[in-house]
Amino acid sequence: MKNGVVEQGWEGWGHPKIGWCEGKRIWVGFGMALLVQKYGGSSVANLERIQKVADRVAESRRKGNRLVVVVSAMSGVTDGLLKMARGLHAEPSEREMDLLMATGEQTTTALLAIALQARGVAAVALTGAQAGIVTDGTHTKARIENVTPKAVEAHLRLGRVVIVAGFQGQTMDGQVTTLGRGGSDLTAIALAAVLKAKRCEIYTDVDGVYTADPRTEPKARKIAEISYDEMLELASTGAKVMQARSVEFAKKFGVVFEVRSSFNRARGTMVKTEAKSMERVVVRGVSLEKSQAKVTLAGVADRPGVAAKLFTGIAKAGINVDMIVQNVSLPTGGRNSKAQTDITFTVPREELAKVRKFLEPFRRSGGARQILFREGVAKLSVVGIGMRSHTGVAAQLFQALASARVNIQMISTSEIKITVVVDEDAGPKAVRAAHREFRLGKRG
Ligand code: ASP
Ligand code: MG
Repeated sequence: MKNGVVEQGWEGWGHPKIGWCEGKRIWVGFGMALLVQKYGGSSVANLERIQKVADRVAESRRKGNRLVVVVSAMSGVTDGLLKMARGLHAEPSEREMDLLMATGEQTTTALLAIALQARGVAAVALTGAQAGIVTDGTHTKARIENVTPKAVEAHLRLGRVVIVAGFQGQTMDGQVTTLGRGGSDLTAIALAAVLKAKRCEIYTDVDGVYTADPRTEPKARKIAEISYDEMLELASTGAKVMQARSVEFAKKFGVVFEVRSSFNRARGTMVKTEAKSMERVVVRGVSLEKSQAKVTLAGVADRPGVAAKLFTGIAKAGINVDMIVQNVSLPTGGRNSKAQTDITFTVPREELAKVRKFLEPFRRSGGARQILFREGVAKLSVVGIGMRSHTGVAAQLFQALASARVNIQMISTSEIKITVVVDEDAGPKAVRAAHREFRLGKRG
């Protein structure tokens, strides 16, 4: 009898694989690992890159891995489709937008399967619906309700590489939906969770998550491992490596994933549940969110219901408010004078026009004495779960910014994050100062 693996009773990680060697039954190792890989838009941007991805997938397959590969649309395609639709109608119907946008991922899915077949690798392309991704009916930002990967598993059993269109799903009654911008990440994480994949690899055009944006801070260093919460805070404060929803999903289901580049072989950043050892690092990274605006309402009546009225209106106008600070009211002059306070908040700069439109009538109806708008501000955040067990981190950040002569306009903190608003022009200098202060450029 030939040497090698002849029996493979069970599938999946953790099951033994039995083989024969020189006529004896031997233990060979574990069953073939199931891997979920996701390739983002820049990794499949053109045919040449799709060929490269196909090479990479084929190689991984030859090593014996079972593979589910999720792909995005070619970079720019989703935006292009959106633009075409908006050229025809100012507010295109969301149902049709989903049908349209879902074509981007279907193109790359089919092309990658064909490229693999050309390499002699058995592969099959599936839409989100065919892969069993069932969502609610919230078009353009649907939530995954469940995943029934029967077809995926059947193809895997037949030894095929299964290519799944990211970013899309289907409602119970067969409507095509999409999962919000960047949603291919979510498809990959969800499939990794239900298939109990051994690994989930998110391939992108950056090497991983960095301690700061390397374009701002050349000394920035790739982070080897990071907790879900740190990743979420960094992602939502400007280091947009991954769709935030997909990180939340991974946290909920304990999916460990690696963010890495498809353009080289370097190890990326592992994102996982926090371990005690991770707390030794006080600050994991610094992020800068540019293009923000600051809105201050001076002389707002200090009584119950005012903030509720103000922010309900802002929410109804579809404006995304972030940091909100209300001042402690100072004692006012005479006994009859009414108590007043100031409220300041930040919004993305492109929302400013909408904010003005809403706030002007609010002021005129006596809601505030004066309203100030300030563009050209940025939010700098330092993030780290180690802050929970270390004191003086805020003071240290403020000292570093003071030494760099950066003025702080607003401050807010959470358990694992300190955020300050600074002038946009001072942003990069502030990032470098914080990066230096917390020794993020050094190993250890
Ligand atoms: N193609 C979609 C987008 O551009 C989904 C994705 O790339 O993850 O948002
Ligand atoms: Mg993407």
